[in-house]
Amino acid sequence: MGLSQNRCDVLVVGGGPAGLAAAIALRQRGFDVLVADALVPPIDKACGEGIMPDSRRELAHLGVDLADAHGAPFRGIRFCDEGSTASADFPGTPDRPGEGIGLRRLVLHTLLVDRARDLGVRMCWGTPVTLAPKQAASLVGEPISYRYLIGADGQSSRVRAWAGLNRGTLQTRRFGSRVHYRIRPWSHYVEVHWGPLGQAYITPIGDNEVCLAVVTRFPELARTTRIIDTIPLLREKLRHAEITSRERGSITTTRTLRSVVRDNIALVGDASGSADAVTGEGLAVVFRQAALLADSIQSGGLSSYVAGHARTLRLARTMARALLLMDRYPALRRKALQVFAHDEVLFEKLLRVHLGEEPLNRFVFADAPRLGARMLLPSQLRS
Ligand SMILES: Cc1cc2nc3c(=O)[nH]c(=O)nc-3n(C[C@H](O)[C@H](O)[C@H](O)COP(=O)(O)OP(=O)(O)OC[C@H]3O[C@@H](n4cnc5c(N)ncnc54)[C@H](O)[C@@H]3O)c2cc1C
Repeated sequence: MGLSQNRCDVLVVGGGPAGLAAAIALRQRGFDVLVADALVPPIDKACGEGIMPDSRRELAHLGVDLADAHGAPFRGIRFCDEGSTASADFPGTPDRPGEGIGLRRLVLHTLLVDRARDLGVRMCWGTPVTLAPKQAASLVGEPISYRYLIGADGQSSRVRAWAGLNRGTLQTRRFGSRVHYRIRPWSHYVEVHWGPLGQAYITPIGDNEVCLAVVTRFPELARTTRIIDTIPLLREKLRHAEITSRERGSITTTRTLRSVVRDNIALVGDASGSADAVTGEGLAVVFRQAALLADSIQSGGLSSYVAGHARTLRLARTMARALLLMDRYPALRRKALQVFAHDEVLFEKLLRVHLGEEPLNRFVFADAPRLGARMLLPSQLRS
């Protein structure tokens, strides 16, 4: 890239979902945006590959319309353990049921890159941004001038360290892995199987393919086979299915930063904090942050991003806390699943809260007492 091109309104470091979504949202508002990523598309990553309905809506705002042909639609979430199965459909109407969609991460990345290109976002692939302490950012050894720099470089963000934004709290750190199997999806739900070592999620991603992602507290066990060996139902289902991808691992954290902005530098996506992957809300949060950031820059600065960022993660973190209690205390999890299996309306309400479609405080006042009573009093399960 020549020096004359080393100028832009916004430099985005990282071309994953967060960086590309931010670039698209900014370009939609008329900014000259340059995205640089160390890797070359399509970029793969360990992910459960389930796009929840709220995430799908955010993508549509960016002009990325996911069609069923891109993957496989799913209608809700199903929790399973050794004793119970509970299903909850996404909110919707009988003629327009709410739908999520499972799709390969590679497909999602390609769609985002195509949309960014169509809008005129400049993209430099295979181009790590060099961030040396107390020095300006440089691209292929050349300095680059920008009005804003966005750090969208993931969990272990270098931009975060370079900008002095690492202060915060790491609430949880777990280990994930994912692989694909050639098998006809047996369910219209994303199934979350709770086992003794962690969770295994099955997301349908095509007529004849599913994604299996596992998440565990134990780093030495973060292999898909180790986890499904402890979940007999899944082990049986997948025993003869052909593996169609290379296994990929990643960490997943719940992290809160003190601040996500310094001067003209802002963090977005996993770089700016996160909620454990068990929530399945990572991408929805990322896309929401991208829109908020673009609106803020359009209104002349980063202050409304600063004001609104914490809100983008609050609900997902609360849900992560509750779900990780179930991970840590099997007796609690068994009880909760029994209650949800017995009272799927309650489970559906909780899913609505999870998706931000119903306020958490309304659930706490109206439904939590019923949940509490059923958890504490076995006789309530029969009523
Ligand atoms: C096991 C697992 C399962 C998950 N399941 C789901 C799910 O089902 N649904 C969901 O919504 N979310 C899920 N998530 C969360 C979701 O994957 C993340 O929230 C999302 O990937 C975050 O995107 P990002 O763009 O912030 O980061 P990333 O996807 O990590 O992208 C960061 C990019 O920055 C680039 N980069 C890094 N450093 C530099 C540098 N110096 N210069 C240039 N480029 C650089 C990297 O190459 C990378 O492309 C899951 C996560 C895990 C770990």
